Amino acid sequence: RAYNFNAGPAALPLEVLERAQAEFVNYGDTGMSIMEMSHRGAVYEAVHNEAQERLLSLLGNPSGYKVLFIQGGASTQFAMIPMNFLGQGQVANYVMTGSWAEKAIKEARLIGETHVAASSEASKYMALPELQDIKLSDHAAYLHLTSNETIEGTQFKEFPDTGSVPLICDMSSDILSRPFDLSQFAMVYAGAQKNLGPSGVAVVIVREDMITDSPKHLPSMLRYDTYLKNNSLYNTPPSFGIYMINEVLKWIQEKGGLEGVQELNRKKAALIYDAIDSSGGFYRGCVNAEVRSDMNITFRLGTEELEKEFVKASEQEGFVGLKGHRSVGGLRASVYNALPYESAQALVQFMQQFQNSRS
Ligand code: PLP
Repeated sequence: RAYNFNAGPAALPLEVLERAQAEFVNYGDTGMSIMEMSHRGAVYEAVHNEAQERLLSLLGNPSGYKVLFIQGGASTQFAMIPMNFLGQGQVANYVMTGSWAEKAIKEARLIGETHVAASSEASKYMALPELQDIKLSDHAAYLHLTSNETIEGTQFKEFPDTGSVPLICDMSSDILSRPFDLSQFAMVYAGAQKNLGPSGVAVVIVREDMITDSPKHLPSMLRYDTYLKNNSLYNTPPSFGIYMINEVLKWIQEKGGLEGVQELNRKKAALIYDAIDSSGGFYRGCVNAEVRSDMNITFRLGTEELEKEFVKASEQEGFVGLKGHRSVGGLRASVYNALPYESAQALVQFMQQFQNSRS
């Protein structure tokens, strides 16, 4: 298997892929693949419900939350959130932390009034705003936050207390990578393709009282209450993706739940950050040390030429996905849940070899 440091779609656990392969053609002795089954049948519905229950169980079964499966990725959530939650005379509040927060507010601006409650743009997003500097507007409909900026490589370690204002969080690139207190949030959501499964489904975990009655003018597929009332089976769901999510959730349980995967994630990230910090300046981390992400490790070399050489040499050694996002350049190692520790070790070894060959 490749050393897969892709930012997304990302590596899936080998055990999950092998389990899925074993069941691919004949699921549970039905003579069919899970993706050939009716989404209205008992066999698929059991998988669908199990994935929802397993997800809530990993989050400690807080009361009042529902899991929805929605197509269109996290990007469609950027639009659905203001469409559903931004009422007349209200203001949508956003914390600006990087490329994905910018995309989220862009959609809200198409729908209604917005307010930047805090921003680290002045630091070129190399820092994160302090929680106490987040200033909500009057009539705030919600505060939207991006827990992990996939492109810049920053990650919030704690979340703000917004009182009665609903806190909504895009956790696309760090969901289920560490424990978090769901009860702090009115809604969290994530495109599946990093920590949860294949692309094609966004997972929304939302307090039920938020979505019982969506605005009447919204089309059915863009209303949260459609998904709530129909258990995300109003239309044909991405059934194979949801089956895969259930298998990934089983794998997380086997790894010791969120505490277990967090420990592994911290070890992997620390190994790579240590290699950067002990390189005598050959490698330089892009963001302030206290906001470094455990999921997306961004770093640079002295020149863009050298970075190109690094990427080329890494590919020759079986590494995939180390080129930084085209909008910011540099290098990025994405080390999501499924990246094996051995891959992080191999990267560190390669980084040292590359440095030795150039100095
Ligand atoms: N939000 C974050 C933090 C992301 O990293 C991404 C994708 O990389 C998205 C949103 C967009 O997700 P999607 O491609 O599922 O629309």
